[in-house]
Amino acid sequence: MGRSKQLFLLFPVLLAGLALAGFSCGKEPGGQAGQWVTILHTNDMHGKYLATPAGWIDGNPPIGGFAAANFYVDRERREVERSLLLDAGDFMTGNPICDLEYDGVQGGGMVAFMNLLGYDAVCLGNHDFDHKRKVTSQLIAMAEMPILLANVFDESGRFFTGKGYEVFTLGDVRVGVIGLLMESLPGYLRAGSVDGLRIEPELAAIERILDEVDARTDLIILLTHVGVDADEVMAEALEGRVDVIVGGHSHTRIEEPVRRHRIVICQAGANNRYLGRLDVLVAGDSVASYRGQLIPMWRSEAEPDPRVAILAKQFDQQIDELYGEVIAELKTDWFRSSEGESNLGSWIADRMREVAGADVAVLNSGGIRKSLRQGWIKVLDIQEILPFDNVLVRFECTGKDLLALVRENARAAVGGGGILQVSGIRYCWRRAPSGEAVVERVEVGGVPVRGDRMYVVASLDYTAAHWDRYFGFEPRNVESLGVTVTQAITDAVREAAVIESVVDGRMEEMR
Ligand SMILES: [Zn+2]
Repeated sequence: MGRSKQLFLLFPVLLAGLALAGFSCGKEPGGQAGQWVTILHTNDMHGKYLATPAGWIDGNPPIGGFAAANFYVDRERREVERSLLLDAGDFMTGNPICDLEYDGVQGGGMVAFMNLLGYDAVCLGNHDFDHKRKVTSQLIAMAEMPILLANVFDESGRFFTGKGYEVFTLGDVRVGVIGLLMESLPGYLRAGSVDGLRIEPELAAIERILDEVDARTDLIILLTHVGVDADEVMAEALEGRVDVIVGGHSHTRIEEPVRRHRIVICQAGANNRYLGRLDVLVAGDSVASYRGQLIPMWRSEAEPDPRVAILAKQFDQQIDELYGEVIAELKTDWFRSSEGESNLGSWIADRMREVAGADVAVLNSGGIRKSLRQGWIKVLDIQEILPFDNVLVRFECTGKDLLALVRENARAAVGGGGILQVSGIRYCWRRAPSGEAVVERVEVGGVPVRGDRMYVVASLDYTAAHWDRYFGFEPRNVESLGVTVTQAITDAVREAAVIESVVDGRMEEMR
């Protein structure tokens, strides 16, 4: 390619990102000619088809949603000659749109939006299996773009999504996109959700097809739903044999892409608020230069395509009819935490314990998906706080089991999160100089736990099934109470009418 043509191609990119780091003013290392390719990316949209308030900015301006996304994607696409729009999974779960039928498919609305925006390729996340395998297959069938998973196979050994990778030709650059989902998928789902599917370790799947993809392409992108830590581990193992990892799952806002082991890693937060943009200069089968950023998708700046706006309005009206009812007033902000007690977690756990008639209730912090400002509480808020169809369960265990659970919970707090929110139980713990968590005192109903006594515990079917991660013991004779936690809490909120909730030190760390 002639120098003038190359400069011409660079010009719009230069205009778009003069302020960005890592860019070398048209002179590429080794003097190689190359072509810039732009990768636009999202991940973990979690049903956020509408804008949500940006609570970290004064006035909470609305950010994101598909109307805004459509505008920003089109704007970026117009600026460049060659682009791909990718999503790294978990578009499902987080708003009732994922439960409503559209085109005969539960959650089909999300795919309808992605079709309208013209996504080029998508990989699936764990939450895209929340309605079980059959619905996932229907969502895949609805998608107008390839859904890529190179490490998930059906009974006959075929790729579950139909394809493991896709090759796109953008100008002179052939781009291979390989989709990957974490091998530990079943651990994130209710039992039986992916029965019959075989999930291969991510690296084994890549090794199996990498030479084949490499021979056909100039740029290789892994589109992953494994989390940023696992992305870095993969980068170390692959050391420059792929070029880019577009990730998801950990909801990490990587403001500027990082390069690890000669692989550029990016991720765009969560909840359909940011559009990731990564520009790579591809020359001689590798990335000669790159730069990138996260673009906040401000709703007020966006002029959406009418088709997107109309579809969003349809869903908004439908969801408002079904879930718009105000059922209570919240006097104090509800916040959530995965590292310690939260007033929202405690309030939910307290109601679970009451409904189940149990001594103790526990639920995973990760199952609580939204904080809420004081004000009116709508049915929709509870749907968004507890978007899973988890069922309330009850079982009996010994005091010894409860002590194991508490130790496990204190250990999780030290380990940086993922603790259970609790009710009925109260304990103190401290960090030993060694860094270990030491539990000092455990009470149930105001009296010390007795190891040989039996206690009734309420929880979710999800945490009971994944007891090895949460409980530290295996619960026996788990009884389903036939009501989802979302429904039980909706009823409890309605009954309470006015809610004030506090952190009362039930999991107190002594310093
Ligand atoms: Zn995920």
